[in-house]
Amino acid sequence: MRLALEGSFRRAFLVAPGLLLAAAPAYAQKLPLPEKDIAALAQELSGETAKRNLEGIARFHRQRGSEGFRSAADLVAERARAYGLSDVAILDFPADGKIFYGTQRSRPAWDAESGELWDVKANRKLASFEAEPVALAEDSESADVTAALVDVGQGTKDADYAGKNVKGKLVLTSAQPGAVQELAVGKLGAAGIVSSAQNQRTAWWGEDENLVRWGHLDSFSPHKTFAFMVSLKTARALRERLEKGEEIRLHATVKAGRHPGKYQIVTATIPGAQLKEEEIAFSCHLDHQRPGANDNASGCVTILEVGRTLQNLIGEGKLPRPARTLRFLWPPEIEGTTTLLNARPDLVARIKAVVHMDMVGGGPVTKAVFHVTRGPASLPSFVHDVAWAFAGFVNDESYRYAATGSADHPLAAPEGGKEPLLAQDSPFTGGSDHVVYQDSSFRIPAIYLNDWPDRYIHTNFDTAANIDPTKLLRAAFIGAASGYVLANSSRSDWTSRPAADGPPGAGPAGLVYRRKPEPKGPMTVFGYDYFADHAKAAKIATPKLFQERAIPEAPRAPETGGPEDYAYEILNFADGKRTVQQIRDAVSAEYGPVDVALVGEYLKALAAIGVLEQMR
Ligand SMILES: [Zn+2]
Repeated sequence: MRLALEGSFRRAFLVAPGLLLAAAPAYAQKLPLPEKDIAALAQELSGETAKRNLEGIARFHRQRGSEGFRSAADLVAERARAYGLSDVAILDFPADGKIFYGTQRSRPAWDAESGELWDVKANRKLASFEAEPVALAEDSESADVTAALVDVGQGTKDADYAGKNVKGKLVLTSAQPGAVQELAVGKLGAAGIVSSAQNQRTAWWGEDENLVRWGHLDSFSPHKTFAFMVSLKTARALRERLEKGEEIRLHATVKAGRHPGKYQIVTATIPGAQLKEEEIAFSCHLDHQRPGANDNASGCVTILEVGRTLQNLIGEGKLPRPARTLRFLWPPEIEGTTTLLNARPDLVARIKAVVHMDMVGGGPVTKAVFHVTRGPASLPSFVHDVAWAFAGFVNDESYRYAATGSADHPLAAPEGGKEPLLAQDSPFTGGSDHVVYQDSSFRIPAIYLNDWPDRYIHTNFDTAANIDPTKLLRAAFIGAASGYVLANSSRSDWTSRPAADGPPGAGPAGLVYRRKPEPKGPMTVFGYDYFADHAKAAKIATPKLFQERAIPEAPRAPETGGPEDYAYEILNFADGKRTVQQIRDAVSAEYGPVDVALVGEYLKALAAIGVLEQMR
């Protein structure tokens, strides 16, 4: 069938909910899926089944390449087999710190056996890896150290260390361990790090003093060290004692380290019928700190629930087998996806579109807003309208249910909430695996379902208790319906060229660049920045685009419009046809005005490190 998803179709979902209450439930007929299929999905999908799987995954500290990740991968593969999915496998790709997969320098595996931090005089345990693995920063190395603690504030600049001797001591920092490693350990000889870094900035930032945040050291730093993560409350108490002139001696013991290992990616399929060589992929990311319930056990179990549901309905004859194959992927975030798409060009050729889920289960306590996020302006596609059609439907049905107590498809889980979904139709934001698919090396359109904000992201309080089975059920419905429709779509034009370009410009603004076939992937990946590393090696100064306040303030959607967003799209727009001026105009339309000279300088630097070639 051919889908009619343009203009009037989308506008059908922009009517006020009040009008819909009075109207006949005819809007369901405008969906690109018959009512009987919608009812079949709504009846089979289960938020409780998804949440029970989430409770299993959330037990594991799922660092890339670690035993905890392997345990989570085994759990997912076992469930996928039990559900009857096909081609279930755990794919292995060596990761040793040297091998590159496109723009991703593989990070060696990291495992920890134990880690404890004690306040010697008070005889008090401040942190324990066994009890709360988040307490030991990723990439910590073995140590047994008793030393004094020195407060260095942020600890990210020389001035923070003025008049302080940190050699052989432990530094107390409010920044991420990786941000002070070079200076405190490499240059000044500190023995280790204690960090109270806070989670990502939202309205609730810094308010809960009990949160312990996931911490990271630099995966490639030559300055081996360790770092313990403590709460704001613990850090404040230590600071107060230090300010009074007390000497605090801490005893740190760590058994941990990096080692050659592998990226592991769980995969499974539901084979298609007529077009089985083509695929629609369901994606998520399986790694992160324990518990990591919303980020991102939620996305993992929701695509798993999509797989279970579609497999059952197809097996029972309640849904026809889709034309295209459905593929399910559970990789470590961004680095796993960049690895897969570089190591498996056969999959890049087969995958036509992606439904990516990263944080889809946050209940009211997380303050999450659910987003159905569109692709970047460099890669327009109708797939986002398909996703929004179903999200708008769930918004309407769930509001009708909340407001009146009845709806045809309330999609409310028995153990979950009854609040309306209130999903937002959101412009492109980065921050997860969908940026890899939509990079100009791959050009695969990706629907992105995601919560933001989440006040507990990346902390020990991102727990299963915060997860709402109703939310999982609704995300699963939007994902399953969208993926199933795309798997049957008769369209072959998955992406379209963006709107007409402006005048070509002259001089440096008239230059044209084209992406080289290698390396494939976005410049900023996980724990590694291909551009920064290669520009440094080539002695190219940091482009002005990345300097603070280089881009004047402009109206922007939340979470977009930082230098990295401009950089991502500038590279994506370099297609061998657009001039520097036209790229400047396109990225300005997307994020806000930027000086053409900044765009030209960044493109020139990309050409100098061999990512682009200059055409004219
Ligand atoms: Zn995350």
